[in-house]
Amino acid sequence: MPHADTGRAARTFLVGTGLEPTLNRILVYSAVADSDHPLTARQVLERVLADHRINRVTVYRILDLLADCGAVNRIASVDGPARFCSRGGRWPGGHSHFHCTRCGEVQCVDNAMLHFDEKALGHDLPMRICGVDLRLDGICASCGKAAGTG
Ligand SMILES: [Zn+2]
Ligand SMILES: [Zn+2]
Repeated sequence: MPHADTGRAARTFLVGTGLEPTLNRILVYSAVADSDHPLTARQVLERVLADHRINRVTVYRILDLLADCGAVNRIASVDGPARFCSRGGRWPGGHSHFHCTRCGEVQCVDNAMLHFDEKALGHDLPMRICGVDLRLDGICASCGKAAGTG
């Protein structure tokens, strides 16, 4: 089983999004929610497989379902597989994504660190803002170190 608290939280969360909390869905969602960075479908599969038998197609199908109902973010990549991370959860104020232009690594960044004024945005723009997911591009810490600039 996933960590007991995470498993319970996952179950509550799935019910809240209108999904039946089957064991496989709980396992897949927990694997994504337990990670502090976005995972590819293959990485999610490997994490679930560490303790459970599940087939690849099931994991891929559940990830698509979770992404379609807004439970997880599906982050597309130009030259690699899509990655998944949980919405809300450890970032109650929402979060954005940093993309390393060298290695393609994607990291979640708490919106609280970005210091924009969501209220002011909503005031200045003609649309209603209900979430912010900014894209940040740059060089990640390990690529920076490898290049001798970090
Ligand atoms: Zn990098
Ligand atoms: Zn994320």
